[in-house]
Amino acid sequence: MKVLNPRWQIRKFFNDLSKVKQRLLMLDYDGTIAPFKVNRMEAFPHPEIDNVLKKLIKAEKTRVIIITGRPINHLLKLFNLAKTLEIWGSHGLEHLTVDGKYQVTKLEQVQVKGLKEVKELFDKVGLSKQYELKPGSIALHWRDLDTYKIEFIFHYLLGQLQTTASNHNLEICSFNSGIEFSTPGRNKGFAVKYSLSEIKEEVLSAYLGDDLTDEHAFKAIKNNGLAVLVGAELRATNADIYLESTDEVVDFFQEWLKHTT
Ligand SMILES: [Mg+2]
Repeated sequence: MKVLNPRWQIRKFFNDLSKVKQRLLMLDYDGTIAPFKVNRMEAFPHPEIDNVLKKLIKAEKTRVIIITGRPINHLLKLFNLAKTLEIWGSHGLEHLTVDGKYQVTKLEQVQVKGLKEVKELFDKVGLSKQYELKPGSIALHWRDLDTYKIEFIFHYLLGQLQTTASNHNLEICSFNSGIEFSTPGRNKGFAVKYSLSEIKEEVLSAYLGDDLTDEHAFKAIKNNGLAVLVGAELRATNADIYLESTDEVVDFFQEWLKHTT
């Protein structure tokens, strides 16, 4: 574990977990709980992380929320534990509460038209296998593409995509190995702010994520809770601490569990 923001004394943070009225743990999925797979529907959770999270959820001392870029229905096929949890999917466009209330943000007509145009453009240039249609957004993944094709996207496609996005009130967000078109203002930071605003009592919270899209969440939790960057490479980030490996993520959850049971 590396502390990036000296404001946080991590030992004190964990000690305080046992004293506060509410604890909120918000977690990204891909790259945080589960390893990346080229076939996205094979990205199951790390067994060690799954194991410790199971104990943490069973202890019922912490409200655990999953905040992912995936559509909720995909996540539920991969992550069994999520069936008992609150989930924000598609970067804050979808919300499923623990008692099964599902909501999805309704897009404007112009945005629906824009997403259709983006999809048609991807089809036209032979990227049909690379995009993912989600409720309210479209993501283009290039993890398994060769360099030539990625360069083609950047040099010949991006300008046109940016014009389509701005003409249809859509926002382009970058994530590791891809871009996503969605409605402005809906991102993981929105989900974090919403979740924090629901708790009226004294709360200690943390958000764990690995990707560029998690930076929205790090900014949103800033000064209210702990922003935790996970992953093999430390980058410029808004996070407060950095966990480099799966073992360090497991240790973080173990420590959390130890101080809340
Ligand atoms: Mg991720």
